[in-house]
Amino acid sequence: MAITRRNLLKASVCGGTLLACGSSAQAARRVEMAPGALGMLYDSTLCIGCQVCMVGCKKANNMKPDPADNNPSWDNPRDLSSRTLTVIKKFEEGSGRRPNQEKDGFAYIKQNCMHCADPSCVSACPVSALTKDNKTGIVSYNKKACIGCRYCQISCPYNIPKFQWDNPLPQIVKCQLCSHLIAKGGIAACCAACPTGASLFGPVELLQQEAKKRLLYTPGEVYEFPLHDISTGKTVSHQSAQYIDHIYGEKELGGSQVMMLSAVDFQKLGMTKLPDESYASITENIQHTLYKGMLLPIALLGGLVYFVKKNAENHHNDE
Ligand code: SF4
Ligand code: SF4
Ligand code: SF4
Repeated sequence: MAITRRNLLKASVCGGTLLACGSSAQAARRVEMAPGALGMLYDSTLCIGCQVCMVGCKKANNMKPDPADNNPSWDNPRDLSSRTLTVIKKFEEGSGRRPNQEKDGFAYIKQNCMHCADPSCVSACPVSALTKDNKTGIVSYNKKACIGCRYCQISCPYNIPKFQWDNPLPQIVKCQLCSHLIAKGGIAACCAACPTGASLFGPVELLQQEAKKRLLYTPGEVYEFPLHDISTGKTVSHQSAQYIDHIYGEKELGGSQVMMLSAVDFQKLGMTKLPDESYASITENIQHTLYKGMLLPIALLGGLVYFVKKNAENHHNDE
């Protein structure tokens, strides 16, 4: 057998695959949420699609309006962009008349950074321009450190970071949970603006308890729902909808500080079905196994030795 580039690559890939398979048997990295972690609970069943949260977000973060795209419809802008840090999207099916129903119904979903417990963007950034705060868990961006490689964009499972293509000195743009307002004793502007409590700010622990409580509510019964900030005790009355028994963000990719409730299937609302283990943990496990004890070079060397030996034997037989 000749030592061709193809054979050598095959040997190294085999070695690498074996090691990677071995690594998947490793225990998943445990993702601990900071005790003071802050976040948001978005309840799609309370959302009326008024988009006041989007306006509040633009104002608080000094973001320019998106350029008009000849789309006079309700959902303009349609997606996150370098000028839009949060967006409300609408799901419609059939006649689209029944709120919070899949058949012939409609529902809303709010998209913004999930402030993941184990963020892929932080793990992928080669210069630590994205960091997760030890106390609040907020994932922040440092424009001074950023080299514009956009690895964060590629790695984010929720497609959140956006790049300022129209700026000669471009930056990455994403929701930072209004940390500049929190630092002054304020709360996320979208939650402060929301008139129904659909976007609710607060400590993740309290928001998780609130989400679990809502899943036990009787559909059609009236309950008190916290408004703006769960810590203040301010509430508003709503009739409970028939929730899907799932808190999106509680477990996805190791959990996130932004969580969601809905009466409509999350995939229909555009939220991806994701594993419980974070991508950062999966890729780091593989990398660590490959390089631990120089296993990758050994695997490569093993493959090389095998082909040299085979080649020598073949030559010997040919003589
Ligand atoms: S949602 Fe994306 S941008 Fe936000 S913390 Fe998670 S990986 Fe990073
Ligand atoms: S937390 Fe602040 S930056 Fe993030 S979506 Fe809400 S208003 Fe916008
Ligand atoms: S302000 Fe509240 S109710 Fe209005 S669109 Fe935003 S989340 Fe929904």
